[in-house]
Amino acid sequence: MRDDGSRIHDVIGIGFGPSNLALATALDELGSEPGGRAIDAAFFEKQPALGWHRGMLLPGSKMQVSFLKDLATFRNPASPYSFVAYLHSEGRLAAFVNRKDFFPSRQEFHDYLEWVEARFTKYVTYNAEVVSVSPEHGEDGEVDRLRLEVRQDGTDASDGTRTVHARNIVVSTGLAAWMPDGIERGDTVWHSSEFITRFREFDTTGVRSVAVVGAGQSAAEILRFVYDNLPDAEVYAILSPLGFSVADNTPLANQVFDPSAVDDFFYSSERSKEAVWRYHRNTNYSVVDDELIHDLHERMYQDELNRRTRLTFLNLSRARSAEAAGGRTRVAVESLRSGAVDHLDVDLLVCATGYEPMDPTRMLGDLAGLCRRDGEGRLRVDRDYRVVTSPEIRCGIYLQGGTEHTHGLSSSLLSNIAVRSGEIANSIAQSCARPPAGLGGGAMPGPNGLSGVKAV
Ligand SMILES: Cc1cc2nc3c(=O)[nH]c(=O)nc-3n(C[C@H](O)[C@H](O)[C@H](O)COP(=O)(O)OP(=O)(O)OC[C@H]3O[C@@H](n4cnc5c(N)ncnc54)[C@H](O)[C@@H]3O)c2cc1C
Repeated sequence: MRDDGSRIHDVIGIGFGPSNLALATALDELGSEPGGRAIDAAFFEKQPALGWHRGMLLPGSKMQVSFLKDLATFRNPASPYSFVAYLHSEGRLAAFVNRKDFFPSRQEFHDYLEWVEARFTKYVTYNAEVVSVSPEHGEDGEVDRLRLEVRQDGTDASDGTRTVHARNIVVSTGLAAWMPDGIERGDTVWHSSEFITRFREFDTTGVRSVAVVGAGQSAAEILRFVYDNLPDAEVYAILSPLGFSVADNTPLANQVFDPSAVDDFFYSSERSKEAVWRYHRNTNYSVVDDELIHDLHERMYQDELNRRTRLTFLNLSRARSAEAAGGRTRVAVESLRSGAVDHLDVDLLVCATGYEPMDPTRMLGDLAGLCRRDGEGRLRVDRDYRVVTSPEIRCGIYLQGGTEHTHGLSSSLLSNIAVRSGEIANSIAQSCARPPAGLGGGAMPGPNGLSGVKAV
């Protein structure tokens, strides 16, 4: 059945990265359980195809989670959508095991995501950006459906948008690239999220110097890549700390990413939540893999031996601004020791300065006013990742991401993606089993829904 705007989907997923892809697998598997009825799901993704941080798919870059923390295994170890099922289907299971390495390359993980996506393509509309969500009231005055405006090429409407409706939405729009104040993106000033895509199109002839701003994993990976791929260039690392801090992935610290850690965090006091963040930040934020730090140091050491310094650390420093000067980029670098500002002329500046957390309220418009907040103005979110709303809202607004304050460190990571999306799928299935009064309540499976997917 074509969706002309009158159809009310059981659930619409906003964004189709790993989180909502995992949700699709969970809904699908739920449907193969006996009993229940089909869930009508649709997903909208603004990219032209599935793309997981494509700009950082550097050759040789590795995953920071075990291959077993895939889209499904922790939810259902027998899932047909697991990384192991993918390896088996591609004929690489034995070869993968022979590598004796828990951490696949990011390129291979991307290939796995595409393999899973191929089974759900018909439920996804690409090149489709959800620009707003608003409440619609039923006859009884309660909000029983949500109206989504989707900006999409090829729609009949003059403004290029179409309208779709859902009883539940799952916002999984990911992190937004963050540039330092005073620095704007341009032809030779990039954010790390676009790095490899732009580098491949960039004429590197005559590039004499490159600066990379940042102290996290992406900064370190880009430094190593640039050092290795531009052998004639001087490479500068501009970072606020003295050096890179190591990512703690030791077994006891890693428990903070276990599915059970979500309960520990969710039901703990504000004070202990803060303590968890303080103690365990270094498992993921602004930290670098041990091996990579050693790789960079080894390059510097060999340079010293060869009496040619090519990789320079401008530590305890901050990039304050960047402007075009004589065909190059002039970066103002402030020393945090003395406050003095020096200028560095480079041919390429890459800001590996991280991301802003997901903020769903921007697209929620008026609906955001009906969402409950805590004392610090943050969204209140239930254990099943459903935003707490005022009682007249009978629709579910679920979040995958943006719940660090309620569900802890793994909120925007892959670690708990299988279990989290399973919990959301269950919650949606349960709400679909309770038809809203006065609406007949039936989901409408069709060509753009997860037809055949059943809710218990
Ligand atoms: C370089 C890099 C490497 C990483 N590696 C790891 C790792 O090894 N392990 C780990 O646990 N975490 C890692 N992370 C963290 C990362 O957040 C997760 O890997 C993962 O991307 C989260 O998936 P997601 O679907 O929630 O978000 P995303 O992958 O960001 O996907 C969100 C999607 O929503 C789309 N979208 C956004 N707004 C809209 C809209 N309005 N309408 C329609 N579509 C929209 C986007 O185009 C995007 O495709 C990494 C992050 C980066 C940047």
